[in-house]
Amino acid sequence: MNNNDREILKFEIINEIKKVNEDIESYKKLVQPISPDNAIGRISRMEAINSKSINEAALRKAKESLSKLNQALSIIDEPDFGLCIICEEEIPVARLKIMPGTEYCISCAEKL
Ligand SMILES: [Zn+2]
Repeated sequence: MNNNDREILKFEIINEIKKVNEDIESYKKLVQPISPDNAIGRISRMEAINSKSINEAALRKAKESLSKLNQALSIIDEPDFGLCIICEEEIPVARLKIMPGTEYCISCAEKL
């Protein structure tokens, strides 16, 4: 990976981290405990519980991708960043942009 690609990728990772952090904040608001207030009615309460669990899953996913992004950012300046850990070939930059935390090239990822 050349330095230019590395700088661009770093910039994109930092932007993505900001975005994911904002997502996490909004999911956190959505997963607040649902009040046992009967006024909202049984069905809408069930809906609220349902969407709460969807948001909880989304929150977990966002936290996972945040930790992958932070991990990628912490090693991006290492000389072997962007190399597949199995075949040691360069992972295409386009792939790293979509999945900055990936440690496998496309063909090794497919074999897994
Ligand atoms: Zn590989």
